[in-house]
Amino acid sequence: MFDVAIIGCGPVGALAANLLGKSGLKVLVLEKEINPFPLPRAVHLDHEMMRLFQSAGVINDVLNDMRDTQGHLHIGADYGVMRYMGTVGKPRPYGWSNDYFFYQPELENHLRQALKQYPNVELRLGSEFDSLIQTDSSVMLNIKTSSGVTSEKTRWVIACDGASSKVRKSLTIKLEDLQFEEPWLVVDAEVDGDVQFPKFTGVPEEADLQQLSVMLCDPKRPTTIVPGRGNHRRWEMMLLPGENDQSMMQPDKVLELVGPYLNGVPHKIIRAATYRFHGLIAEQWRLGQVFLAGDAAHQTPPFFGQGMCHGLRDVANLAWKMSAIKQGLSDEALLDTYQIERDPHVRSVISSAVDAGKYICILDPQKATERDATVRRKVAQNELPNTAAELIPAIQSGVIATETTKAGVRFIQPHINGHLMDNQIEADWKLFVTGEKAAQAAKTFIDKDMSDYDMSVTDVTTLEDGGSILSWLKEAEADSVLVRPDFYVYGTALNDVSGLLTSLLGHMQMNVNLEKSA
Ligand SMILES: Cc1cc2nc3c(=O)[nH]c(=O)nc-3n(C[C@H](O)[C@H](O)[C@H](O)COP(=O)(O)OP(=O)(O)OC[C@H]3O[C@@H](n4cnc5c(N)ncnc54)[C@H](O)[C@@H]3O)c2cc1C
Repeated sequence: MFDVAIIGCGPVGALAANLLGKSGLKVLVLEKEINPFPLPRAVHLDHEMMRLFQSAGVINDVLNDMRDTQGHLHIGADYGVMRYMGTVGKPRPYGWSNDYFFYQPELENHLRQALKQYPNVELRLGSEFDSLIQTDSSVMLNIKTSSGVTSEKTRWVIACDGASSKVRKSLTIKLEDLQFEEPWLVVDAEVDGDVQFPKFTGVPEEADLQQLSVMLCDPKRPTTIVPGRGNHRRWEMMLLPGENDQSMMQPDKVLELVGPYLNGVPHKIIRAATYRFHGLIAEQWRLGQVFLAGDAAHQTPPFFGQGMCHGLRDVANLAWKMSAIKQGLSDEALLDTYQIERDPHVRSVISSAVDAGKYICILDPQKATERDATVRRKVAQNELPNTAAELIPAIQSGVIATETTKAGVRFIQPHINGHLMDNQIEADWKLFVTGEKAAQAAKTFIDKDMSDYDMSVTDVTTLEDGGSILSWLKEAEADSVLVRPDFYVYGTALNDVSGLLTSLLGHMQMNVNLEKSA
């Protein structure tokens, strides 16, 4: 019997398999296709994904195929800047740049190749999930292959089988519609030179249009222009009322639309396809032993490039919890915190993307002018996030000490002696304390009551991190912080590190009423 069967080896399934494989669980990955989907869909990801790739041990492979970029720029109907979410000169507290552009088939390929190092992970290509039967503690999967139907038994299933998830449908889980659906044309090209932009006003001096995701909120044709990795460039253009998908994908039409951006620049169009951008979220993320993750659980309009990122966060959340249960640190109820933690998080980012989508997709010139003024006023009054990183909220409830400062936020990753922190401190749980006495008290507690935990104890007063964690603690009005395996802060404490550890034990042993803390 497998510990986990992952259905679908897109980016989300492949990262899940790497994380669970690294933790030593016995994993089966079923993928109906032989090769990764060959055309790019996602092009943007953020620092948190880089940290997950770092923890999965694939960062050196994927990094070579990324473009480190400079954020987002929204241009109004008058071709003046409305909103600049640039990252140039801003701090990089998490160890990576905020925004990277990449080519999805390359990323998927790297993640699949990395699975070869794990004898405990079996990837079956050309194997299609067909149906399942559950008991209280296991799932029997029926799998279609070219040579017939086979069955496999597993403790848990993670359904990463994409937007039209057969697993979700077989469990009759409904999708809640967040009321956004717009048709867009997506054009990918290889471009040997700079993209030509119309004249924009108010572009900040440090902003380089070639390095930014530019959202041109022109009511005549809302358009995003994105710098992919290498010479890959992406245009996303809204279809106007009455425009027909098929005719918009014709080569002549595509050239008419992107031609002005490519005047005289050598290029090759790779593909043009229309998509419906949705805001959808599954009503239930767990049914028995089966968990939905990635596009199977939610779909996001791509205005901040977060759709796949949500899915990677989902499986990072599930992976550490499944591993903790397997290690005997907690029981199955720990997995009930999956939706409690992830659903509000995803919902918040989807609603920011839907809100942005609503203002981006305005086609009425008068309303577009009013929109420009409103967005500029909000930016001036600091009512909108300054960088895309600020769109990502803290976890509100679940396995976090909600009553403590900074609980649920993503923890920083400073450099220690010039090396990224997670490479220097590799333990699943990272406890940072202030002073030798506190470190000793924490070690004594862990040796006595938490010896099964892979937990590091670091005295920040002797840490060569340029004082980053000490400053972080000062801001949190705390002298210790406990970081979860997925790099979110469990909680902080002031003069009470034993209380913090006791509280974690309570959560892991499910002595905490989650509904109450929600
Ligand atoms: C135009 C566009 C732009 C986007 N831009 C971004 C962006 O910039 N940033 C971002 O983060 N996201 C973006 N996204 C979203 C991103 O592409 C998806 O969120 C991501 O691909 C979802 O990954 P997944 O692994 O959940 O699903 P998928 O990538 O759809 O993978 C599902 C896998 O499951 C397999 N499968 C399906 N059914 C079965 C079955 N029955 N049995 C076995 N295998 C099965 C499929 O073959 C596939 O390999 C964009 C999407 C689009 C369409």
